[in-house]
Amino acid sequence: MTASRTLRTPSELADAQLIKRDRLAGLEQVAARYAVAITPALAELLDTSNPHDPMARQFVPNEQELELHPDESPDPIGDDAHSPIEGVVHRYPDRVLLKIVNACAVYCRFCFRREMVGPGRGGLSCAELAAALDYIRATPQIWEVILTGGDPLVLSPRRLKEVITRLAEIDHVKVIRVHTRVPVAVPERVTAALVQALRSAKASFVVLHANHPRELTKQARAACARFIDAGIPMLSQSVLLRGVNDDVETLGALMRALVECRIKPYYLHHADLAPGTAHLRTTIAEGQALLRALHGRTSGLCQPAYMLDIPGGYGKSPIGPNYLSADGSMVEDFNGRRHAYRGVA
Ligand SMILES: *Cc1c(COP(=O)(O)O)cnc(C)c1O
Ligand code: SF4
Repeated sequence: MTASRTLRTPSELADAQLIKRDRLAGLEQVAARYAVAITPALAELLDTSNPHDPMARQFVPNEQELELHPDESPDPIGDDAHSPIEGVVHRYPDRVLLKIVNACAVYCRFCFRREMVGPGRGGLSCAELAAALDYIRATPQIWEVILTGGDPLVLSPRRLKEVITRLAEIDHVKVIRVHTRVPVAVPERVTAALVQALRSAKASFVVLHANHPRELTKQARAACARFIDAGIPMLSQSVLLRGVNDDVETLGALMRALVECRIKPYYLHHADLAPGTAHLRTTIAEGQALLRALHGRTSGLCQPAYMLDIPGGYGKSPIGPNYLSADGSMVEDFNGRRHAYRGVA
């Protein structure tokens, strides 16, 4: 369907015929809790004739979001426990997250920060940003700064340039990474000015969040090419989601499409225990079986690491699958055949 502007309320979704009016009351309850936004580029991808449309599952609110499970948490990956100062999350020794804005172009129904993000949530004030930069400046082991949010690319190129310039001035910061969904959600935002804002004397990387091959439209691919052609390499992260990409054909097509765009698949995240997202989660065993199947049939360039962000703030770990037996004496090949291995130490 075609929309001329971002849809932000259940009644706008009903007007656009993306939901039936009899669902309005339930979905108003969902929208009161978790932000909604579907950009024109994403609305274009919705297939209303398919009740199981993978795009709708990602972006259109659902009554199931009101079902809370006991293991779910408003801060599923424990950001708060590792925040030394407003806007900074410092969990690993050599890198920090810098959350400059809490708004996104689109609100994903499975978002692990869904309790924190939303259009009215603002971002760092000038004073808070200055304090966050002071913290980074005063902490020499910080080698990399990851701009995340929210989605940093909803900021104006002028504002981004200012933040990146100030980061690049810090001697020990060598790498600046930006996590974003903007190239798929609002490809036209990736202008020459935005690309210029991200270029700096330090190594900058853009990491695209994309979960389904249909997200990589002609316009999204062109937006990514603008970064890469300007010398900004791209990686991707995806979330493994039930009914969206939890079959090897879709997952393989997604990874291939990314590589065709010169984007190296980086992480496939196991879905976090965010409130009201159980209907979108798979089991870890299902995830491992998918990764195994992907390894069996797809180029090494197309293999992301399957990651679990350990609840409680302990960080991310790769969770397999594992091809080597615990004692190191047997290894499995890509066809699933097992072989004895005797390494010489
Ligand atoms: C995910 C995350 C990072 C980035 O981790 P990488 O494994 O380097 O991609 C850094 N800091 C925090 C707090 C994170 O949650
Ligand atoms: S773009 Fe990222 S931060 Fe924003 S709603 Fe989606 S997953 Fe959450």
